[in-house]
Amino acid sequence: PTNSASLENYWMPFTANRQFKAAPRLLASAEGMNYTSIDGRTVLDGTAGLWCVNAGHGRKRITAAVEKQLSTLDFAPSFQMGHPIAFDFAEKLSQVSPGGPEAGLDRVFFTGSGSESVDTALKIALAYQRAIGQGTRTRLIGRERGYHGVGFGGISVGGIVSNRRVFPQLPGTDHLRHTHDLARNAYAKGEPEHGAELADDLERLVALHGAETIAAVIVEPVAGSTGVLIPPKGYLQRLRAICDRHGILLIFDEVITGFGRLGTPFAVDYFGVVPDLVTTAKGLTNGAIPMGAVFASRTVHDALMHGPDGQIELFHGYTYSGHPVGCAAGIATLEIYREEGLLTRGAELAGAWQDAMHSLRGLPHVIDVRTIGIIAGIELASRPDAIGKRAYDVFVDCFEKGLLIRVTGDIIAFSPPLILEQKDIERIVAVLGEALKRVA
Ligand code: PMP
Repeated sequence: PTNSASLENYWMPFTANRQFKAAPRLLASAEGMNYTSIDGRTVLDGTAGLWCVNAGHGRKRITAAVEKQLSTLDFAPSFQMGHPIAFDFAEKLSQVSPGGPEAGLDRVFFTGSGSESVDTALKIALAYQRAIGQGTRTRLIGRERGYHGVGFGGISVGGIVSNRRVFPQLPGTDHLRHTHDLARNAYAKGEPEHGAELADDLERLVALHGAETIAAVIVEPVAGSTGVLIPPKGYLQRLRAICDRHGILLIFDEVITGFGRLGTPFAVDYFGVVPDLVTTAKGLTNGAIPMGAVFASRTVHDALMHGPDGQIELFHGYTYSGHPVGCAAGIATLEIYREEGLLTRGAELAGAWQDAMHSLRGLPHVIDVRTIGIIAGIELASRPDAIGKRAYDVFVDCFEKGLLIRVTGDIIAFSPPLILEQKDIERIVAVLGEALKRVA
């Protein structure tokens, strides 16, 4: 298609996005902080694509690495053989692994996406429990308002009820109560201390189901897709302590928070809490090639390699696990992150970023502003659903004015590329501020 009108003649790829059909917006190219729409307008990327293009768009180094790899070894099967670049990438990832060397989360399982990383981590948790003679532990606990992708496991432990409605939820899955009500305004009002109390909800589930049935708990350290929900202080620490007490594995889904988003390489580093498994994707390859990776502790990894029957305890390996081109993109991405200090740049920018976002308080309809690292969630007052979501109208207005934001329900989320500058922050605030004043 060359313009939106000509879309009529095309079969529509399924994006689950009915709004797109009503008002198509087509992105033609991207460079640095900006997209260019098909009608030639520059659109500032306030969302790093979908929380993934952390080093900005169109990075020549990634392009060159991908081209070179494609013309050298485009694909190699990952069963019964390997290829050097997968080893190379795994080693380089282990050097930046969540929590640093002391955390020991440096064993890497490759996948093709965030959803695959989640399903892989859940599977690893069950396999680990069986390998250590805890085969009764098959239950998986997620959290209300958690988002873990579109795989069967991820939807089942995910906390979006409307997503679970049309699927038979995996048996043995249950959900912690979400942290939102207590976390609301947490950072604006001074961090509340009731995180520990809230994490005690896990004790409720342990009492309900029996610890001997629970394999793992999975949470996003900061819930992104469901509207930027920041855990209150002490929450993740207490979850870790309860998991330890009951022999339950803790999984952090860092598909969004991984690779510099919080101003630290991972949320593990930000919160100082070490889980047993960490899922990643998105920023792993700067969004350029679909790919994911699960970091596992050595304890978990080694147990899987020597199960009770002397067999490897885990069936893992997608056709595209450790895809050579993905690995090439990933290595180039890590080089950019290192050379430009992007895994910690967010910490330098966080003050200016968060001040700018909090300056939106007091604008029409804004009922909450939540920030952490280079993420912001701006919650708008609801209006009757029949009129449609206000945040969606703000999205349309911003896009027309050259700013891409993400909306989820009544919440506007920002997660710009980590190369952003003060002028980008100012533009985001200006365009959004005007849109908020205009929307009914
Ligand atoms: N986990 C989290 C925390 C996510 O935010 C997402 C995607 N937004 C996923 C998993 C799924 O990743 P993917 O879309 O790459 O399958």
